[in-house]
Amino acid sequence: MVDKPQTEQVVTMPVINPKTGRASTRHTFAGKLDLIEKKETLSDWKTCNDTQDYAHERLLSYQMELYVLSCKQPITEIQYRLIARPGIKLCGKDLFPGEKKGSTNFDKKHYEDRVYEWMLERPERMVELKHPLNHARLAQAEEWLWAIHVRLMHCEKHGFLANSHGCKAWFKNCPYVPLCALNAIGGDIQDMIERDYEKRPVVHAELSLDDVNVITFSSASCLTLCELKFDLLYRQGLKPKNYDDGEALFVGSATHKGLEHYKKHFDLDGALAAIDEWEKANPILGGFGSHADKQHEQDQRIAKAKGMTRAAAWKWPNPDTLT
Ligand code: SF4
Repeated sequence: MVDKPQTEQVVTMPVINPKTGRASTRHTFAGKLDLIEKKETLSDWKTCNDTQDYAHERLLSYQMELYVLSCKQPITEIQYRLIARPGIKLCGKDLFPGEKKGSTNFDKKHYEDRVYEWMLERPERMVELKHPLNHARLAQAEEWLWAIHVRLMHCEKHGFLANSHGCKAWFKNCPYVPLCALNAIGGDIQDMIERDYEKRPVVHAELSLDDVNVITFSSASCLTLCELKFDLLYRQGLKPKNYDDGEALFVGSATHKGLEHYKKHFDLDGALAAIDEWEKANPILGGFGSHADKQHEQDQRIAKAKGMTRAAAWKWPNPDTLT
C-alpha cells in the first residue's frame, strides 16, 4: 500500500531577494500542484502537441522548482507525465453504420475509441520523465522569480512594452492583436475595449484568484513574452467577448478536469463524467461559423479529451495496484 497521493494543492510563498533574504512586500507567488506521490515525488501531468519538444521545454522551465520551493515538503524527485494531443479528426470514419457521405450523424464514442487507440499505438505519445531534485536549479528558480518581481516593478513605473514576437506565440493569435493594431495607428482603443472586450471574473483563473499582486508561473512567463499582454491579461483582466481559446487549451483543460478526478479517486467513469460536467460550464462561444460547426468542434474536442483521459488512466493506473 502506498501513501494516498495529494492532488490539486494550492501553494503560496513570498518572493525573496536572494541577495538579502528579504521578502517583497508587494508580490507573492502562488501555484497549483498537480500531484504529490509517495510524499517525495512532485508530479505534473501535461497535454501537449509533441512530447519530445515539450520535454525539452520543461527542462528549461522553473515551474516545478518554484512549486517545490512553495510546497514545503521533502520533495526529492520531479516527474512529468506528458500526453500528446492527437491530430486525428471526427470525420466520415465515425459516421453511424448506414449513414451516407455528407451526413453529420457522427458516433462520438467511435471517434473517442479511435483517439484512445491512437494514443496507445506509439510509446512516445505518453511519456514519463523523472529527475532527481537539482538544488542548483532551486536557487536559479528563486533568482528568476526575484527578477520577475523587479521587472514588474520597473514596468509599473515606466510602462509595459509591446513585443510583436509574442503575437503568434503557441501557434495562435494573441487575443489583443486587434487592440494593438488599432493602437499602432493611433485609433481609439478605449472605444474598442468597451465594445469588444470584457472583464475576466478573476485574473488567475487556474487558482480562482483575483489578486494583481500574485505572480503565478503562467503570468511570469507571459511577462517575459510580452509586457503589454501581461498588463492587459493579468492587471486589466481583459478578454475578448465570445472568445474561443482554441483547441489546445480547450482539450487540455477538459483532459485536466478528467485526470484531476482520476488522480483523486482512480475512478475512470467518474473522470469521464467530470469531463461532461466541465463541458456544460464551458461551451464554445466564438471562433467558428454556424451553430452546427461549433457543435461539431465541441463534440470533437470533448471526445478527444475523453480518449486521452482513458489512455492516460491505462498508462498510469492506480498505484495501489502496483507492487
Ligand atoms: S499584447 Fe503583445 S503579444 Fe499581444 S498582440 Fe499586442 S504586442 Fe502582440
